Amino acid sequence: RSAVEITQEALDRIQALEPKLHSFLCVTAELALLQARKVDAKIATGENISTLAGIPIGIKDNMCTKGIPTTCASRILENFVPPYESTVTQKLANADAVMVGKTNLDEFAMGGSTETSAFQLTANPWDLSRVPGGSSGGSAAAVAAEECVVSIGSDTGGSIRQPASFCGVVGMKPTYGLVSRYGLVAFASSLDQIGPFGRTVEDAAILLNAIAGHDPKDSTSLKVEIPDYTVNLKPELPKGKLRIGVIKETFGEGLDSEVEQAINKALEQLQALGAEIQEISCPRFRDGLPSYYIIAPSEASANLARYDGVKYGYRAPDAENLLSMYTRTRATGFGAEVKRRIMIGTYALSAGYYDAYYLKAQKVRTLIKQDFEKAFEKVDVLVCPTAPSTAFKAGEKTADPLSMYLVDLMTIPVNLAGLPGISVPCGFDSHGLPIGLQLIGNVLREDQLFQVAYAYE
Ligand code: GLN
Repeated sequence: RSAVEITQEALDRIQALEPKLHSFLCVTAELALLQARKVDAKIATGENISTLAGIPIGIKDNMCTKGIPTTCASRILENFVPPYESTVTQKLANADAVMVGKTNLDEFAMGGSTETSAFQLTANPWDLSRVPGGSSGGSAAAVAAEECVVSIGSDTGGSIRQPASFCGVVGMKPTYGLVSRYGLVAFASSLDQIGPFGRTVEDAAILLNAIAGHDPKDSTSLKVEIPDYTVNLKPELPKGKLRIGVIKETFGEGLDSEVEQAINKALEQLQALGAEIQEISCPRFRDGLPSYYIIAPSEASANLARYDGVKYGYRAPDAENLLSMYTRTRATGFGAEVKRRIMIGTYALSAGYYDAYYLKAQKVRTLIKQDFEKAFEKVDVLVCPTAPSTAFKAGEKTADPLSMYLVDLMTIPVNLAGLPGISVPCGFDSHGLPIGLQLIGNVLREDQLFQVAYAYE
């Protein structure tokens, strides 16, 4: 089939499903067809094309796309049209991938259910009364419902892996610095990382191939050689060579018993594939959550200071003076969860509280990193559940922020340590909802994660 036909199919499916799913904040049908025609023209003239050429892709709406609205699902950026392109979307355009639209998210990627979006609720394709997870819920739901073939998300504390788990797709957060953050609207800069969603491990690997690599426009971007992430994809693991550690602290309190059973079954399968399994302790694993909820809001409070009604998007009308313009813009432009984070972060960074909160949290972060370093002396890959439960009902956790924060208990430590992590589907619970297995790799060992995930899949 031609690129135009494939793109048209995705657009038709989007049109048919969006009234129920709401995964996209904006659909770029005309541009997509224009791009697809260019791909078909290249094919007709015998030009070399990339693996991603003509493939319909969804982009989380916190990545800047030149001339196309980028809202972060926030009122404050409702009418923001970036004058520049993010490195990741530029790379995808260079590879001739066809962007079909921008996907829904929690406002500024703060949340675990996509419910803090100022514009719409995204449904979980497996059960429309449930959330798709978050914050990249739109990207995960769009891939699960086949509205696009692959998509891009961002992960600060679990926002790619957790929705991948809830929607039954593959989602990876790469090593911090592997993928450029240039043009990604910042939430918590020391934790944010862009990564791929796909229905298969191979699709996710192909997508990472296209977006990874050093970028002089991002000062935290790593200068490393990028391997081809698809070369290690084999049905079996090298016999007795791969050591897998099961993180002890992720079991027990708070873990749904059906999720636990699915993980245990996955471990048996990994053993049958040739892996050597052992239990590993990361004693500070559960301290990741409280540490993250100091560090992430602190960085967010600084990053979000730029939305003052002067430079970007929304400006409250009828202000009497400059100060009231700032305060009214922010009071009406930001939603409740974003305001909560700004207040927590400002408090934790303020003189007098800095040492007790922010500095302490940074120390805990170092200890968590050290736990992982020790673990990787003994094993190659760590495994645990991606989330403590399967997708919950819309509205179930919105009244209690702490219960929402707990959803990312198992993904957050990976961001704090800057490590790569992937979620792969590992069965269903008795409601027919997908369960995710999380694989965590050592720094820059995405190749190993793809290898294990592919053999398991
Ligand atoms: N759910 C977490 C939070 O609300 C993680 C979000 C993310 O990874 N962007 O901060």
